[in-house]
Amino acid sequence: MQAAVLTGIRKIALCTIAAPPPLQAHEVLLRVMTAGVCGSDRHYFTAGRIGEQAVTFPFIIGHECAALVEQTGAAVTQLRTGDRVAVDPAVSCGDCDQCRAGRPHTCRNLLFLGCPGQLPGCFAEYIVMPERNCYPLPAHVSYAQGVLAEPLAIAIYALDFMDPRPGQSIAILGAGPIGLCVLAAAQARGMEQIYVTDIVNERIKAAQQAGAVWTGNPHIIDIVQELLHQGVQPDAVFECCGSGEALQQAIQILKPGGKLIIIGIPNEARIAFNIHTLRRKEITIINVRRQNKTTAAAVQLLAQGRVNLDFLLTHRFPLAEAQAALDQVSDYKDGVIKAIIDVNSSR
Ligand SMILES: [Zn+2]
Ligand SMILES: [Zn+2]
Repeated sequence: MQAAVLTGIRKIALCTIAAPPPLQAHEVLLRVMTAGVCGSDRHYFTAGRIGEQAVTFPFIIGHECAALVEQTGAAVTQLRTGDRVAVDPAVSCGDCDQCRAGRPHTCRNLLFLGCPGQLPGCFAEYIVMPERNCYPLPAHVSYAQGVLAEPLAIAIYALDFMDPRPGQSIAILGAGPIGLCVLAAAQARGMEQIYVTDIVNERIKAAQQAGAVWTGNPHIIDIVQELLHQGVQPDAVFECCGSGEALQQAIQILKPGGKLIIIGIPNEARIAFNIHTLRRKEITIINVRRQNKTTAAAVQLLAQGRVNLDFLLTHRFPLAEAQAALDQVSDYKDGVIKAIIDVNSSR
């Protein structure tokens, strides 16, 4: 089968590789139809690592995908050949203390699609996943929309930490795919007071069009002063850009008793906060590790049309042009928000 293989820093080659091994009883063989390029893929592509997690080349990245069930293992009960599915990329063991405590996303033996040392990714024609990681897509949800179930699941999970109530406000720092999914998921929960920042103008525009009440570019204005001026102190700030600066802005703008919810992946390994600001405001810092059991809710929101994320899908590439897709996302070229790769031609 064909796969787009990461062969070095900023190098992807289209290669013919061995087909996946025979299925275990609870597994399904998936024909990957469409895959998304995520910010974390960008880290592996440009730096070969995220923190201690380093790529050994060659390696296949990619963890966001929607697929067609090609074959089912002997003990598969819910899925059939020909089903269209969104994929939860996290394969947990079901047996460790974390899994038993209802935290499969921090499973001690976690195998995550496209994560170095865990599972090869989905920028390949076929992957094998356990049946329980596959969520059927209704016919009116496209594969491209199905890909967005993964970032949307993260947004839903992050919002759960806030437990939003009517009349509350939030700020989203970073209007990439995750930030915009948080925006859409927050709106689906009835939130209206949503403030968004980004340093890319196309992303600011996207946030405005999606209904943010205020947007600002921290490279152009002092967003802390600006919000202070308007008397805005959000109840929660969602950090979705992986920027140390944004994390500082977050604690400055938050309301006392507010929550800083960190989803972004910073380049730096250490972040320092002004402890006096944190303690005087009694700010809670919450780290979001991907998502936990929210993929079904994401697929449901998409299926019911309660969120429309089509505006995120700015660019499409065939598998043979995976290099261009990764380059584009890495350099924020051409107003890209989410680039997707049509791995197999759509049916
Ligand atoms: Zn992702
Ligand atoms: Zn486990």
